[in-house]
Amino acid sequence: MTNRYFADKPLPETPEPDQTTVLAGPEAHHVIHVMRAAPGDRAVLFDGSGAEFPAEVVRVGRADVELKITAREEIDRELPIDITLGVAMPKGDRRRWLVEKATELGLRRIVPLRTKRSVAQPGKQAIGRLRRTVIEASKQCGRNRLMEIAGLQDWAEFVAGANDAACRLLAHPCGDAGTIMAALAGSLQQIVLAVGPEGGLTDDEVSLATGAGWQPVDLGERTLRVETAAICLAVVAATLVGWDKERSDAGPPM
Ligand code: SAH
Repeated sequence: MTNRYFADKPLPETPEPDQTTVLAGPEAHHVIHVMRAAPGDRAVLFDGSGAEFPAEVVRVGRADVELKITAREEIDRELPIDITLGVAMPKGDRRRWLVEKATELGLRRIVPLRTKRSVAQPGKQAIGRLRRTVIEASKQCGRNRLMEIAGLQDWAEFVAGANDAACRLLAHPCGDAGTIMAALAGSLQQIVLAVGPEGGLTDDEVSLATGAGWQPVDLGERTLRVETAAICLAVVAATLVGWDKERSDAGPPM
């Protein structure tokens, strides 16, 4: 869907007749220069609150664009469960790819992890850029809630913080590919996944997690890239737990 735009301030719960909003920055650039919108063109706005807002372009400025909000529609395209992925991020394009795909798949949040063998992890600015990647992917895939990119956490902090989740899975070659099916059987509200760095987790890091109740899950004989392991784990989790709540009439936006 190409005519969805993100409003970085909350849009009204109940739009008044003739209520307008102004987009600036990268979203205005997209409307004006990429889509070459003109007054009267239709668009859909979302503000990350879970709703979307059919709208109509009323004024195209040099650097901003004004749209009339014609309705507010609560359209839920989230997964039925809350999936968090803790990951020692790869670098560059592979990092962006991971964030884009995780957004499309419906993950609730990514937590970048600092582990013993991590390569450089994203700082504040890089996390800001990743949030922009989340917005772009959400425009494309139709999500009305933004996947969260949490601040950097140490491995021990992440492991301790996940204690309350009923299902905690650590991608780790352990020779037992069956554990993932068993771990995801039954009804679950929340799943926390973890994937180590390119250099692997240390034995101590693995023991810290397994000692706290995490289940190691094996993804086969091949050594996967961090982002492959992460997406693979997320897909298996969503497939076994279910991709949709009741399949709503919303469906994917085309
Ligand atoms: N050289 C490292 C490889 C790390 S791969 C090592 O020998 O451990 C990066 C991360 O992806 C791993 O820490 C693990 O979390 C995940 N991973 C990669 N391949 C996997 C597999 N076959 N099964 C389970 N996890 C895997």
